[in-house]
Amino acid sequence: MDNSRSSETLAYSLNLFLKGEHMPKPTVTIHAVHERNIEKYWDSLKLPDSQPCYVCKEPVTKKNVAAFVPVDGKVEVVCDKPLCFFNLHYMKHK
Ligand SMILES: [Zn+2]
Repeated sequence: MDNSRSSETLAYSLNLFLKGEHMPKPTVTIHAVHERNIEKYWDSLKLPDSQPCYVCKEPVTKKNVAAFVPVDGKVEVVCDKPLCFFNLHYMKHK
């Protein structure tokens, strides 16, 4: 997914949000990890020190990771910006 695609998703989600339309049920599995285990979890997934956010493509590290998302057998990460977390719920509806 490239940047223009994710801004489309962002606009779509914001639109839905602003109109207050019923939100579809999230279909993305989010693995919550206790903060003190994040580093261990990150290492156990053999992720590089920095990986682009699945939503906004900004670099994500152990310090600002908010979610780990399994996508096609790979692990994608999401940064801690609230909009990215919010948008994650819509990414798989495309
Ligand atoms: Zn992000």
